[in-house]
Amino acid sequence: MSSASGPGIIGKGGRAQTSFTLIRWAMRVWDIDPGLLCDRHLLGEHNEIHAIWSVITGGLKGFSGHPETKRWQGKLRALYLRHALTAAEMQRRGFKHKSPLDENLATGKAVQDELKDPVEVQERLLSGKDADCAERLRRRKGS
Ligand SMILES: [Zn+2]
Ligand SMILES: [Zn+2]
Repeated sequence: MSSASGPGIIGKGGRAQTSFTLIRWAMRVWDIDPGLLCDRHLLGEHNEIHAIWSVITGGLKGFSGHPETKRWQGKLRALYLRHALTAAEMQRRGFKHKSPLDENLATGKAVQDELKDPVEVQERLLSGKDADCAERLRRRKGS
């Protein structure tokens, strides 16, 4: 076992151990401009937003203890806005987006003010992960 504790499988009382790879929870919601993410990270983040949204609005206990879910508790408005940015960027790149979120559920804080890592660190993490993100970040910085 690694030190990371999995969020468990929905419907198993929230205690079931499962691997991160199985449920593909390795993605995260970034706090940087979605325009700087490569397609893979952009689509991954989009899925993640929907997963977190479902967990919080649906009260799915199995996942509610996950740090990335906790970070968005009480901030559905901010998550809603982040989704809108992400969906707009997807459409700009020609991806079809057919999964609007219910704005009636977009309550709470409108700003995500709890960053897991500072923005510069997030940019470094993404650059280290793949060449596509690194290239986008480099171009944006104009260097
Ligand atoms: Zn969507
Ligand atoms: Zn990437």
